[in-house]
Amino acid sequence: MIGITILGATGTIGLNTLDVLAQHPGRFRVVALTAHRNVELLYQQCVQWRPSYAVLVDDTAAEQLATRLRPVVPEITVLSGVAGLETVARLPEVQMVMAAIVGAAGLLPTLAAAEAGKRVLLANKEALVMSGPLFMAAVERQQAELLPIDSEHNAVFQCLPHSPSTRPADLARQGISRIILTASGGPFRQWSLDRLAQVTPDQACAHPNWKMGRKISVDSATMMNKGLEVIEACWLFSASPQHVDVVLHPQSVIHSLVEYVDGSVLAQLGNPDMRTPIAYALAWPERMSAGVSALDLIKVARLEFEAADWGRFPCLRLAYEAMAAGGTTTAILNAANEVAVAEFLAGRLPFTAIPLLIEATLSQVSGRVVDHLDTILADDAKARAFATEWMANY
Ligand code: NAD
Ligand code: MG
Repeated sequence: MIGITILGATGTIGLNTLDVLAQHPGRFRVVALTAHRNVELLYQQCVQWRPSYAVLVDDTAAEQLATRLRPVVPEITVLSGVAGLETVARLPEVQMVMAAIVGAAGLLPTLAAAEAGKRVLLANKEALVMSGPLFMAAVERQQAELLPIDSEHNAVFQCLPHSPSTRPADLARQGISRIILTASGGPFRQWSLDRLAQVTPDQACAHPNWKMGRKISVDSATMMNKGLEVIEACWLFSASPQHVDVVLHPQSVIHSLVEYVDGSVLAQLGNPDMRTPIAYALAWPERMSAGVSALDLIKVARLEFEAADWGRFPCLRLAYEAMAAGGTTTAILNAANEVAVAEFLAGRLPFTAIPLLIEATLSQVSGRVVDHLDTILADDAKARAFATEWMANY
């Protein structure tokens, strides 16, 4: 049986992963489940899945979990803190790590999984946005397998030329001229700037096609999600930003496309359901069922495309600029965005001020060459400090 650790088991991706695993009993063994502080849900998951380890980052929550599990499933070891996450990402009995923690918090355990040479099922795009060169170097050095879970990158991966390894190759040498990421445009695709200024957190989290955690839902609404995905694509596929384009596709049926020099364009289609990329990455290079219904083309009937409006969605421009600037600039972009999204969700920052806060941070905190993890973490902290101060004066 293949041992698997799920980082972020209580989130949307974590739950979808467990759903897929439940369809294939006897093939995978859940070795570790982790969450931030949701004692109740992680307790239920532990009782059902009987992992060897459970991790709650919050110390008090971890103690509560241990107390509840002891009389029921005493053999589960409960760990806490970031060290606990890193431990279960590296376990020798684990072959695959689902990296599904949201935000910068996912960086260290995801990096630990790569450093330990695991198959990394990468949902946590923020880790790659922050640490691209270091992360890819660790994957290369340790011969880890990096399989994208983000639906766009999973689609691109599926449309690349067949290769026995997951290692990125030179796009031009493979006859690839462009990667085209599709974007639904989120819930406000057609809204005017005036209306956007009034958006509430609940409106922003009501995505038309996907059910996701609140942070990524807001990112989808501002289109920062697509910006982060452009950066993610550059690292995953060794592409430069000018070879990664974004096209709006409101139906979310084409998950992304790869354009070749001979004029061929390959696309991956399917119902918008994260269980498809999850099952793909779990079974790769084979295929296994995901519980996703077959795509009904007649019912879909129409596939539409539009250009993305950078005026109404400046986050996309900011992400391209950050990637072009390179170094820790993308970590600074990510940190400012995390602060801005949290402030928006808390009702303290209007939706249209999210890019203003990010742009202000990018203009005040300068990026540096990524030489070491500490440089990334220091610039992440600097950006958060600046963004927090900006909020205090807002
Ligand atoms: P979510 O908010 O539903 O779940 C987040 C998970 O991370 C939870 O298990 C939570 O306990 C854990 N977590 C939160 N803060 C933490 C912390 N400080 N330390 C440790 N663990 C923490 O998020 P989600 O929608 O499942 O997304 C997870 C990741 O996958 C994100 O990076 C997102 O961008 C990416 N992703 C999600 C989708 C989707 O459809 N949901 C699609 C593509 C990519
Ligand atoms: Mg995506």
